[in-house]
Amino acid sequence: MVESKTVSAETTINARLNLSALLREHQVRFESSSNSGYDFIVCGSGSSGSVVAGRLAENEDVRVLLLEAGPTDDVASVLDPERWPSNLGTERDWGFIAQPNPHLNGRALPLSMGKTLGGGSSINVMVWARGHKNDWDFFASESGDAAWSYSSAVKTYRRIENWRGTPDPERRGSSGPVYIQRSPDLSSVARATLASAATAGFDVYDSPNGEMMEGPGGAAPTETIIRSGMRQSIFRSYVLPWMERPNLTVLTEAYVLRLILKENRAVGVEFVCQGKAYQVFADKEIILAAGSLNTPRILMLSGIGDRVELSKAGIEPAHHLPGVGKNFQDHVAFPCVWEFAQEPVPPVMHSEFTLYAQSDPSLEGPDILHCSLGFAATSPEYMHLLPEYGWTMFAGLAQPRSRGTLRLISNDPTSPVHVNTNALSDPEDLKAARASIEISREVGNAGPLARHIRREVLPGESVGADLDQFIRRAASTFWHPVGTARMGRSEQSVVDSELKVHGLAGLRIADSSVMPRITTGNTMAPCVVIGERAAECLKREHMPGNVEAHQRVGPLHVIEQQASADSVGRLFLTKENESTDAASEDGTNYERKHMLGSDLLLTKSTSQNPDE
Ligand SMILES: Cc1cc2nc3c(=O)[nH]c(=O)nc-3n(C[C@H](O)[C@H](O)[C@H](O)COP(=O)(O)OP(=O)(O)OC[C@H]3O[C@@H](n4cnc5c(N)ncnc54)[C@H](O)[C@@H]3O)c2cc1C
Repeated sequence: MVESKTVSAETTINARLNLSALLREHQVRFESSSNSGYDFIVCGSGSSGSVVAGRLAENEDVRVLLLEAGPTDDVASVLDPERWPSNLGTERDWGFIAQPNPHLNGRALPLSMGKTLGGGSSINVMVWARGHKNDWDFFASESGDAAWSYSSAVKTYRRIENWRGTPDPERRGSSGPVYIQRSPDLSSVARATLASAATAGFDVYDSPNGEMMEGPGGAAPTETIIRSGMRQSIFRSYVLPWMERPNLTVLTEAYVLRLILKENRAVGVEFVCQGKAYQVFADKEIILAAGSLNTPRILMLSGIGDRVELSKAGIEPAHHLPGVGKNFQDHVAFPCVWEFAQEPVPPVMHSEFTLYAQSDPSLEGPDILHCSLGFAATSPEYMHLLPEYGWTMFAGLAQPRSRGTLRLISNDPTSPVHVNTNALSDPEDLKAARASIEISREVGNAGPLARHIRREVLPGESVGADLDQFIRRAASTFWHPVGTARMGRSEQSVVDSELKVHGLAGLRIADSSVMPRITTGNTMAPCVVIGERAAECLKREHMPGNVEAHQRVGPLHVIEQQASADSVGRLFLTKENESTDAASEDGTNYERKHMLGSDLLLTKSTSQNPDE
């Protein structure tokens, strides 16, 4: 019943908002403005940037400019979850290619990244994975700030999540902006994979985002950001609800070239939009949220980075920060493929199964990550072996030890970045890769799954040196690059615990690049936490009254009236985790439209009976 009410609210907002028309309006508004008068400029509308922009725009007195290099997300390839692979290699993908890697037999891995409203959250596989307890405690120890600890992250997740599965009120939120549900209609293969994982000795959990991520791992059905059969990206969760507000301006195809620095302060941004060059200035702060490859690129193009390397690239150094572009990390995967005994109907394109494990019991937490895909996939080297109908286990490394670098070879903002991922350069990673594949085989060839499977296609018979060859030739990426502007206190760190760039005023970084170490699992959800943390710090510094509202916990009561032509809404404060699907202060039933932190915008229910 709750489901059908939220669906109708969702339908209302999608039907009511004409995104293309709104984006045109924003463009016109921007062009008729004086290119100033913004409090905050957010560069990049991805998994973190959308959170920052949305949270700041909640306050109507705060003027926010959100710049996104890519086009709109209002296309079927983004909104239809089953079509996610069709975005790869298109205008919605940055299409980076790493440098040839000697540890991968000289292969140059493609590194896709989202280039559209929502960034990665609009082209990714939609898996929601919150990271392991150890990850957050490591962030806290690196930054010297308990605000990053696991207990703090859990509180933030409770604010973020609109979790629709079995309630876990200690850990999960049920009234936040990000709709999360278990991968819908688990296929018989996914159910068999979970049973096979149990046969292979793994603990099977109801959710991969609760207790399972506080211990050595286990298996669970995947959770996703799919809502009513559609992808609900982080942009759609956080920014779309505010698109009609005059205090928020969102520009697409707005390519940020560099920051404008004045002494030790970032004051503005240079960008190109529809062939025209602009300079815009922020009264308060600029937030870089362009992702792990573009954020260091923009920093370096602005003269922020290692002074020797900048000079070599023909860029005049403005601020020496040797850690920019270092500490690159990514999850590598070794796709193991099985041939189905018969054609699966319907085929499943998203992930339904997640497994975390330890390659060595003496480790403090999981270092192995597996995600299933309902179709056969592999590297170009093995394409010719793929069966017509198959199933893939992305057997990967959750805590790789190899570290890569990123550098510029020219001061031309359009010239490619050199990404040396260095994947598998640390011999420990090769050892963990072998263990990861063995686990995949244990699950894939055991128990109830066997009746769905004709044979193991990849790595097939390979063992020993052959298996090592398979690892190097099949290795691909989970597309989780992080760490290139790491948070911390060492000389190699780029931002402090409040995400301020060391030694510069007016500039924060909020995206995957600030992670000191990659999180155990897919990286979108942790990026949402990073966005929340950035917004919280910005509010605390620039609008102290708002932080209170952001975090306040109190009884349900009306604090403000809101009205527009076709919806009646009210802003409520509510207790964290309190169910607020229908509220009736004056006898009218209201539905949740969008919940942002503790501020709840309600629309009038289409049904007068909340139980209908
Ligand atoms: C194919 C694919 C599948 C993935 N699958 C999953 C998954 O299932 N689950 C998961 O958790 N993670 C997944 N990820 C990773 C996840 O999407 C990213 O970790 C996450 O989106 C990173 O967030 P971010 O904010 O750092 O950057 P992004 O989300 O990449 O956002 C950066 C934004 O900045 C914009 N930008 C960059 N440069 C500029 C510029 N110069 N000017 C203006 N705008 C700019 C970009 O266009 C983009 O919109 C996947 C990624 C890919 C590519």
